Amino acid sequence: MKGDPLLLGQQPEKQLGGKHLSLSSEGKDYGKADIHIHSSVGDGMAAVSAILDFVEQNTELDVIAITDHDSIEGSYQAGELASKRGYRFQVVPGMEVTTVEGHLLALYIENPVPSFRPLEETVEAIHAQGGLCIVPHPMSWLTDSISRRSLERILSSAEQSLYIDGIEIINATLAGSISNRRARNFNCKHQLAETGGSDAHFLAAVGSGLTLFPGRSAEELRQSLLQRTTQAINGTRFRLNDVGPLQIVRQQLKSRAFPYMIRHIWRNLFRAQSL
Ligand SMILES: [Zn+2]
Ligand SMILES: [Zn+2]
Repeated sequence: MKGDPLLLGQQPEKQLGGKHLSLSSEGKDYGKADIHIHSSVGDGMAAVSAILDFVEQNTELDVIAITDHDSIEGSYQAGELASKRGYRFQVVPGMEVTTVEGHLLALYIENPVPSFRPLEETVEAIHAQGGLCIVPHPMSWLTDSISRRSLERILSSAEQSLYIDGIEIINATLAGSISNRRARNFNCKHQLAETGGSDAHFLAAVGSGLTLFPGRSAEELRQSLLQRTTQAINGTRFRLNDVGPLQIVRQQLKSRAFPYMIRHIWRNLFRAQSL
């Protein structure tokens, strides 16, 4: 990570247990964002209101985004509640769009982005409304993820509106156990803005993946993403034991990732048998 502004001078303290992060470096303050959180509007288990209260009381997050699958509703709710309640953190509008080639985070959007469309069309639709495209859990077969080939196709496109703003190199879920190293290696070459996200579907997981950026506000995060000065780090540790088996089963029944994983395993088994 030579030349990374966040690693020059005194490094931000990388570990873990977010409440105790010391993020001053060369007199600069770094904000903490979790820009990949699911609510009960989608397949998450916590209501938007509960997530916001949790962020206020139990974390030091400066910016968050509610990014439900194929719905901006939770994000709208978060924006409205934040303006009513006057939290100390800011909310970025967003959603996680399912494209025909995998999930794509759309941030800083005002309107919902259509789902189940070709990747190119989705990227253009996000940029057309001034949004940013972040690729979550890339190359992970544990959930519906954009492949290396698809990413490289977009990155080599000559079309002006066809580009990716950032890549999630820390995803704090099981899907991240497949994608994180692959994403980091991929990004050594492509140098997109790096992000970390919890991909939280449970309250206790909020803040388990973080994006650091110079500043504190949602706008400063946006500028940092555009300038590619963000840094992904691990956040607060979270164990499935903290959630409990009943919650996990209930979430899996709501989840869209579970059927995808089963389909993937089934397809690969079938392929292996037919070789
Ligand atoms: Zn996803
Ligand atoms: Zn997600």
